[in-house]
Amino acid sequence: THFGYEEVSVDEKASRVADVFHSVAARYDVMNDLMSMGIHRLWKRLTIERSGVRPGHHVLDIAGGTGDLTLKFSRMVGPRGKVVLADINASMLHVGRDKLMDNGVGGNVEYVQANAECLPFPDNSFDCITIAFGLRNVTDKDAALRSMARVLKPGGRLLVLEFSKPDNPLLTKAYDEYSFRLLPKIGQFVAGDEESYRYLAESIRMHPDQETLKGMMETAGLDRVEYTNLTGGIVALHRGIKL
Ligand code: SAM
Repeated sequence: THFGYEEVSVDEKASRVADVFHSVAARYDVMNDLMSMGIHRLWKRLTIERSGVRPGHHVLDIAGGTGDLTLKFSRMVGPRGKVVLADINASMLHVGRDKLMDNGVGGNVEYVQANAECLPFPDNSFDCITIAFGLRNVTDKDAALRSMARVLKPGGRLLVLEFSKPDNPLLTKAYDEYSFRLLPKIGQFVAGDEESYRYLAESIRMHPDQETLKGMMETAGLDRVEYTNLTGGIVALHRGIKL
């Protein structure tokens, strides 16, 4: 196990994101369950199903945070495989490592502090890369997608699980009410932190929609890019292959 101490370029947005996640790290899992009403577990399960990960594979879970996906992958790749849980934020990695240890995860997981925009791995390293609810926090998303495509092996898959655009106006309205009114209140009540959850709602609204993200993945060098809307497009799962 090693915590890489690679230098990361920290611009203003990156450091704001870092602050947000430092302040939420300890409560992150509880808040996830609360704010998605547990549905994030279903979104993650589908991501695992679509990953095609098999015993012996090398997997990168970038912006992996507290390691929900890493936990599952670690069981799937087995003792000959490897999973790298990477995140820009040391607090999230620590919470993740403790959780994985408590779940009996051992030798096949590595912990690396890294920025998705400039991944510290050689070309063609991974059979599968996941970024779940992480891309929206990244300043230079195109650079991050290029970096992920670079470290993916030929034939490897990139899965991007992220908030997206609801596919009907009624749902959009309800969802806006929820995220701009209720969510910051829940954040204030549970974590004493309204601002972080307001930022969360804003970052979701700013994120590229389904078709835009698909185009960005293609531009970054991924092929056969497709996506599935989940929960009416509140979330989308994009998948691309490096040919
Ligand atoms: N993947 C986990 C999940 O689905 O539960 C965690 C998602 S959490 C909402 C977003 C994570 O992205 C945080 O842990 C944050 O530190 C990380 N992050 C933000 N910007 C990043 C960057 N540029 N490079 C790597 N990780 C980043």
